[in-house]
Amino acid sequence: MKIEKKIINEINILAEEFDEVKFMEVCGTHTQTVAKYGIRGVLPENIKLISGPGCPVCVTSQEDIDAVIELALNGISIATYGDMIRVPGSKMSLDYAKAKGSDITIVYSIEDCFKIKKLKENLDNDNLVFFGVGFETTTPMTCVALKKGLTVYSVHKLVVPAMDALLAMGEIKIDGFIDPGHVSTIIGVKPYRKLKVPQVITGFEAVDVLASVLMLLRQLKEGRCEVENEYARLVHEEGNVKALNLMNEVLDVADSRWRGFGVIPKSGMEVRDDELNAKIKYGEILNEIPKPGEIPGCACSEIIRGLKEPDECPLFREVCTPDAPRGPCMVSQEGTCNIFFRYSAGSALP
Ligand code: SF4
Repeated sequence: MKIEKKIINEINILAEEFDEVKFMEVCGTHTQTVAKYGIRGVLPENIKLISGPGCPVCVTSQEDIDAVIELALNGISIATYGDMIRVPGSKMSLDYAKAKGSDITIVYSIEDCFKIKKLKENLDNDNLVFFGVGFETTTPMTCVALKKGLTVYSVHKLVVPAMDALLAMGEIKIDGFIDPGHVSTIIGVKPYRKLKVPQVITGFEAVDVLASVLMLLRQLKEGRCEVENEYARLVHEEGNVKALNLMNEVLDVADSRWRGFGVIPKSGMEVRDDELNAKIKYGEILNEIPKPGEIPGCACSEIIRGLKEPDECPLFREVCTPDAPRGPCMVSQEGTCNIFFRYSAGSALP
């Protein structure tokens, strides 16, 4: 704990030179680190950490959730990661559709999808769709699925365009970003340089987050606006070139709809091969879907943009819990509401 204590002392000294400073983390795992170690509690009052659009399940639009549920209700088999099936759609969740008899399987890896595909092919049934969700960290696995002939409904998203959109919207003061570590192992350092705000690519230990807060404060004090790499033990300038090439081979950058934002230009990854793109392959089913409904009372859209904290939602804890989630931010382990529910405000730090 010695090193953490030293960093906290330095942060306290530097903080005296500022009024209010707001840094945003855009990664659910950082949100967990901040909450788990009570980092907000050890920072000076004028240094605020706010959570942004760092949970891929949470930022998936209601339209896309409804669309995949519609496919399932029309007899298409769906495979996806666990959190997605509990996200409430306008009328039901994938979980509810499964209870009604739709063929929906939770997978833990792309290998699981191949096993299901093989079983189906043996039954002369090839109507499996993989609901591919996530930022650049999980996208390469979906690319492997596509290369092996799996049909995919892609809601894969790119982090930097959303950060750019947040800055452009100007709804919230952001003095610096704690850049996501996992995503950065894939995309490297370069893409962040287009954002004109101090940034630090950060690892996932408490000491990493504290160090990045200190580095951001130093940038502000010295009038610098740079992308520094605190997570250099895993993140390299060019990123993972092999993974990036794989993504460029089978996916196209496209406009994408985000919960809380609407459409952000060039912020998603779409399947290039029409025959493997579920949105085109099953276009007739998807064209019939009514406009999505709002989740009554849910503040997820504001929470994703950093405008509200979970306890500003009237449903938090009383009505909406991880066992009975009303919105996506309570479903996912990376969702801000879920994280705030699980961790108290106390600190494990000195
Ligand atoms: S507490 Fe539940 S209803 Fe409220 S914003 Fe969070 S997920 Fe949505």
